Amino acid sequence: MKSYGEMLTRSNWVEINLDAIRNNITLLREMVGTDIQIMPAVKSNAYGHGLLESCRVLEESGADILGVGSVEEGIALREYGNKLPLLIFASNTIHEAAEVYIKYNLIPTILYYDQAESISNVSLTNPHPIFIKIETGRGRLGINAEEAVEQITNISKLPGIKIAGIYTHLCDTKWRDMDNDYTFWQNERFNMVRKGLESNDIEVPFYQIANTAASIALSEIRHTGICPGRAIWGFSPLEARPEHPDLKQALRAWKTRIIMVKEVVGGKFGPKFKNIKLEQPMRIGIIAAGLNDGIDHKQANGGFVLVRGKKVPIGSSESLEHSILDLTNFPNVEVGDEVVIMGRQGNEYISLNEVSALWDRNLSEFLTGINPTIPRIYFQDEKPVSIAYGNKVTKL
Ligand SMILES: *Cc1c(COP(=O)(O)O)cnc(C)c1O
Repeated sequence: MKSYGEMLTRSNWVEINLDAIRNNITLLREMVGTDIQIMPAVKSNAYGHGLLESCRVLEESGADILGVGSVEEGIALREYGNKLPLLIFASNTIHEAAEVYIKYNLIPTILYYDQAESISNVSLTNPHPIFIKIETGRGRLGINAEEAVEQITNISKLPGIKIAGIYTHLCDTKWRDMDNDYTFWQNERFNMVRKGLESNDIEVPFYQIANTAASIALSEIRHTGICPGRAIWGFSPLEARPEHPDLKQALRAWKTRIIMVKEVVGGKFGPKFKNIKLEQPMRIGIIAAGLNDGIDHKQANGGFVLVRGKKVPIGSSESLEHSILDLTNFPNVEVGDEVVIMGRQGNEYISLNEVSALWDRNLSEFLTGINPTIPRIYFQDEKPVSIAYGNKVTKL
C-alpha cells in the first residue's frame, strides 16, 4: 500500500481532521438537545474542507439535514451514498433543473411562486419537499416577510409539492448581553410569518433562522432547527468566552514540498516584495504553491513557511503555481523536504489565524480560497484514512 505522500502527483495538499468535525457537531447536539434539528451548512466545498468525506462524518454524527451549495454538490453527495435530506441553497432559477431535483431527491430553495410551480409541474404524483426562503433583513434572497404569508399560502395549494421547511439568514449576532436589536427584529419578522402560516393551518415541520452565532448565543431563536456553518469547521464569529463550545479547528495543515533548490546568479523578484531582494547571487527553494492554489501575494511581505521545523521566509509569491523561499540561512534544506504553509512542524506552528491575518482574509475567505482541486487528506486518530481529489475519494 502506498503512503498518501506517494499517491500525490503534485506536491500540494491539505490535511483535514475528521475528529474535529465529529467533535463540533457533537458539541452542538449537546447544546441544542434532540428536539432541535441540525442542518450543517456545507456549501462552498464544505467551507473548503472537501464535501464528501466531511459530509460522511456529519451523517454518521447525527446531522439531520445538510445545507448544500449547488445541485452539482447535491448529486455528488447522492452518488457517494449520502442518505440525508439535502437542501440546496438558492443557486439557480429552478425551472431548468426541476427534474434533477426530483431525480436526486434534492430539496429546492424556493424564492417565489413560479419556482414552486415548476417543481409542481414535474412532480404531480409524489409530493416533493421544498423549502421556502424568507427575506427578513439581510437585503438579499427570499420572499419579503410582509408578503410571505400570502405567497406561501398560494404555494401550499399547488399539487405535487409539500412545504418541508421555511428559513432565513441573519446578519450580525453577538453574545446575549450585547446589542442584538437587529437580530431580534429579523426574528420578529420571521415569527410574523410563522404565526400567520399557523393561523392559516399551514403546518411546516422545519423553521430555521440560526447560523453559528445565533445558535450559540441566543437559544430562544433556535425555532425547530439550526444551520451552523462555521461552527462545524471549528470557528465562530462570536468573541471568545468560556461559555463558548470548545470547537476544534478542522483544518489540520496545508503543505507542499521543495521541488528545486538552486543558487540564482542574478535577476529580480520585483520591487513590491520586502522580504528579499534578488540583487546578488543567492540560494533559493521553489515550492509547488502559487496564486492559483490560493496563496496570497502578501505572503511575500513578511510571510513564512516551515521547513525542517524552522520558519523560512517567502521571497516571492507572484507565480500561478510556485513561490520562492529565501534559503540563505538554511543550507540543509533539500529537494523533497516537506513545507508547511499552515500547520505544525516540529516545535513550530503557523496558525490559521496568523496566516489569514497576514493575507488580510477572514477565515471563511481563507478556507474557501484554497483551490478545491488540491487534494484533501483526511485524518482520524492522527492517522490518514482517505484522500479526496475533488469528488474522487480513495480510502487509505
Ligand atoms: C452559510 C449559511 C449559514 C451558515 O452561516 P455561519 O455563519 O457560517 O454559521 C446559515 N444559513 C444560510 C442560509 C447560509 O447560507
